[in-house]
Amino acid sequence: MTVKATQILRFFWTTIAHLIFPNTCLACKNELAPSEGHICSFCMNDLSFTHFQSYTEPTPMDKLFWGRVDITSTYAHFNFEKNKASQEILFGLKYKNNMQVGIHFGKEIGKIIASHPSFHTASIIIPVPLHPKKQFLRGFNQSEVIARGISETSLIPIDLHLITRNKHSETQTKKDRFERWDNVSSIFSVSDNIKNISHVTIVDDVITTGSTIESIIRSLRSKNPTLSISVVTLAIA
Ligand SMILES: [Zn+2]
Repeated sequence: MTVKATQILRFFWTTIAHLIFPNTCLACKNELAPSEGHICSFCMNDLSFTHFQSYTEPTPMDKLFWGRVDITSTYAHFNFEKNKASQEILFGLKYKNNMQVGIHFGKEIGKIIASHPSFHTASIIIPVPLHPKKQFLRGFNQSEVIARGISETSLIPIDLHLITRNKHSETQTKKDRFERWDNVSSIFSVSDNIKNISHVTIVDDVITTGSTIESIIRSLRSKNPTLSISVVTLAIA
């Protein structure tokens, strides 16, 4: 076969493949232009990235934990905004089985934390666990999906057995911060293996009050008081 025939065949196949499997934006599912990657330019422009990695002063996420628990490093990839692409992404990941979008942004986050010295000593990633029953019903844990992407590009392994969730937390919106903490403080059980680790990174999909993360940190430190802990989320509300 001549070079030209091969090129024609390849063009023909790419066109057919595109008709059968069109490249769509992982966030909004609209068709992508050939120049676009996994997320369309509309969604990219609609996202408000935090750029926390280039802050020289404490970020709003650092300040969220002030006076509550000590944290080594924090990072959130974009700001959560209602009726914007960020909401579409989080909603798709949590309720529409859109795991690809979680993996995609996880990989992006992994590259950022891999080049950030304060995360370098973290040896394990811990996704915020769901209650086993809830995970069974949903089919997956959205924080674990993001963590898988982060692990792929940062090369930090995930441990799903260090911490387990014992019970559902009830709806927390009507409680103040102290009551919320009281409510979540007995939710998690920690494996004794945590005693052999010096720095972990906790991964969640979105951070709002930080009370769940605070509860996990208190549970981890009850077994390893000197443990360094970093927190990474896809979004901050
Ligand atoms: Zn899009």
